[in-house]
Amino acid sequence: MSERVYGAVTDTGRRREHNEDSHGLSPEAGLFVVSDGMGGHQAGEVASALAVETITKAVLEGQSLEEAISQAHQAILEAGRQNLGVRGMGATVVALRLTDIDYEIAWVGDSRAYLWDGSLSRLTRDHSLVQRLLDEGALTPEEARNHPNGSVITQALGALELADVKVDTVRGRLYAGQKLLLCSDGLTSELEDDEIAAYLGQGGQAQDMAERLVEAANQHGGRDNTTVIIVDAPSGAQARPGRGDTRPINTDALNDVIGQSKKARSKNAIIAAVLIIFFLLALAVGGWLWAQFAARPAPEPEEGGAPVSSVAPVKPSNQYFS
Ligand code: CA
Repeated sequence: MSERVYGAVTDTGRRREHNEDSHGLSPEAGLFVVSDGMGGHQAGEVASALAVETITKAVLEGQSLEEAISQAHQAILEAGRQNLGVRGMGATVVALRLTDIDYEIAWVGDSRAYLWDGSLSRLTRDHSLVQRLLDEGALTPEEARNHPNGSVITQALGALELADVKVDTVRGRLYAGQKLLLCSDGLTSELEDDEIAAYLGQGGQAQDMAERLVEAANQHGGRDNTTVIIVDAPSGAQARPGRGDTRPINTDALNDVIGQSKKARSKNAIIAAVLIIFFLLALAVGGWLWAQFAARPAPEPEEGGAPVSSVAPVKPSNQYFS
């Protein structure tokens, strides 16, 4: 396996006194983790550090990302019960596992993963109130951008009311020149996706890009802690295939596609039924007209043998219904 090339930066930002984000770098295992802690000083950073530690240990022991993240939830709950940190402290997480050129990303909360290959694609879907309202069509993307509850998440590791967390995952293949970006919401609450893309588009090494993004988040206000990890595709990765080849899709997006194609199928069935009815009606009218034409009496030749017009004078239509 080729050496992993990556960059990582975490920063307290301009407004906060403590950095409650944590991150884990295990390049030899292809494992990278970003966790954003909440609950305040001596709580948030305890929760996020525990998340990274638990996930790293579990994955290195052979567990799946999903199992490892569920364990992190239990570990934070247990720490709260034992008065390590604060009861009710929590953390979001986004974790990446690379096996050769294939990747798996798993997450809980609003820490995100993106794919960069000259354009930016978001791979994760936030577990947040705003995302849920967007999904239900209750908000436009414009309203979502400045929503007052923009930081409310619908699940977190360590949340007391959750017996377990629902971990979402996305898998795909990494092609030559592509990069994966993991980040806490300190980045995405300051920069829109197109701004992130513009900064990444300035190029450079993964570490330069990560530093540039965190600096930009700080320049835009730096209201939160920001953590960014950027991982390059391995040097042995294949050239990117054309359209129509395998591309990643997460569980929610997959359900959307299935729902849309079901809708399209039922719409097509209605259109087909209407067309058939029109066709049958046209057939009936055509048949009726043909019957009228065939039933007309043959014209009698006039004396003197003058040519007879082949078009018979049309008789009043009521004649045929008597
Ligand atoms: Ca945060």
